[in-house]
Amino acid sequence: MSTRHRSWLAAQLALACAVTAALPAQQPIVGYDDTPMQPDGKWRIHDGKRPQPRIVAPGAAAPGPALPPADAIVLLGAGSDLSAWQMSADGSPVTWVMKDGVLPTGKGMIRTKAEFTDFQLHVEFATPSEVKGDSQGRGNSGVFLLGVFEVQVLDSYRNQTYPDGQAAALYGQHPPLVNASRPPGEWQTYDIAFTAPRFKEGSTLDKPAIVTVAHNGIVVHNATAFWGPTAHRKIDPYTPASARGPIALQDHGNPVRYRNIWIRPLS
Ligand code: MG
Repeated sequence: MSTRHRSWLAAQLALACAVTAALPAQQPIVGYDDTPMQPDGKWRIHDGKRPQPRIVAPGAAAPGPALPPADAIVLLGAGSDLSAWQMSADGSPVTWVMKDGVLPTGKGMIRTKAEFTDFQLHVEFATPSEVKGDSQGRGNSGVFLLGVFEVQVLDSYRNQTYPDGQAAALYGQHPPLVNASRPPGEWQTYDIAFTAPRFKEGSTLDKPAIVTVAHNGIVVHNATAFWGPTAHRKIDPYTPASARGPIALQDHGNPVRYRNIWIRPLS
């Protein structure tokens, strides 16, 4: 082989290595293949082979918390304390510690003392600036509507997980239409319009819970029906107990921060 040919080969090899290095690493499939099929028969619960939602960068974040409308009930605000909340487990005072209107998650789930049915809800959250863990272990928390329907909170910025468990997913049921996540540490918003399920005489479901969610101003669920209360590896059946309930925030062991949570009952 001529010297010229050898250097040409070396150059080709270097180019191939550079291209390979520039490609994203092969993502492992993060999910389950032994869970029940979802009710529409398309995917399993937490199916790792389900397509990842398209990424849509949201517009710039507002410089501070958005002021609540005049008729909103402020659940967590700049000047408020935690008197609207209690520990979910036993109704005791909240042990999470709020500072300057910002509430980092603490130990155990918390819920509002008040219960709701249909409402508009605004929530601001930030996943940890310091990125730790991956998949479901990165910035996991959750906003539980009526205490049982979870809109997932997760750091889904360059963090692959099963699509029905990523940020703004209706956990274990519906992935968001797109991934509108901001980078870790930045404040993000959920704006949620929710209609509680309705039941006929006895415990027969009449109408399922319906939700519309905007994540950072981008619609990610458009009048989507919950198949039942959300759960890990399963979907719980509707019972009349899920017709009304609190807003609850999940402790999943990751220090997620919340601020500026307000609600407008619609019924
Ligand atoms: Mg969660």
